[in-house]
Amino acid sequence: MTRPDELAPRARTWPELAAVATRCVACPELAAARTQVVVGTWPPGARALLVGEAPGAREDETGVPFVGRAGGLLDELLADAGLPRERVAVANVLKCRPPGNRKPTREEIARCTPWLARQIALVDPLVVGVLGGTAAAWALGRQVRIAEARGRVLELAVSDGGTGRPLVVTYHPAAAARFGRYGGPMAALREDLRLVAELTAR
Ligand code: SF4
Repeated sequence: MTRPDELAPRARTWPELAAVATRCVACPELAAARTQVVVGTWPPGARALLVGEAPGAREDETGVPFVGRAGGLLDELLADAGLPRERVAVANVLKCRPPGNRKPTREEIARCTPWLARQIALVDPLVVGVLGGTAAAWALGRQVRIAEARGRVLELAVSDGGTGRPLVVTYHPAAAARFGRYGGPMAALREDLRLVAELTAR
């Protein structure tokens, strides 16, 4: 049994963390069902870190977070905001795909948190952007309505990951896409990514 809480704090670099995390079997059900652990992407020098919920089928297949339709949309919106994906680190609250894309359980999130907390400490981003309800609840330590939490700078409330670090909460691209390209959530997501870009420029 892997102990992320013991192993993650020992990683001194993102590649070092990735090498250990890819062998993690702390959640037996997820470890048995996944194709691979999706650790995240970190272009060296990235000043923003975006966090989603968990890998989906395409991510599980490719090992890269936010690919497929939601990823393509995210890439497009980031480019529009003046913050190309190549300059952003991206990870998920959970690093393994839950079978059938079910919601991560509270226990799985707790087990996986040391990896992400350590990634945040290693990237040391000027801002963390969280996409969707699961990531927002993780970052704030409580359930929130995205519509109420978005559009302003909050503070990350994850110990070891830099409590008090600037945080922007917004919609998950897949959720925003459900309301259409010209819907309110898409406009909000655009605006929030621009805020993330502004914070990285300071
Ligand atoms: S979800 Fe996280 S803690 Fe669970 S097995 Fe995957 S990497 Fe390990």
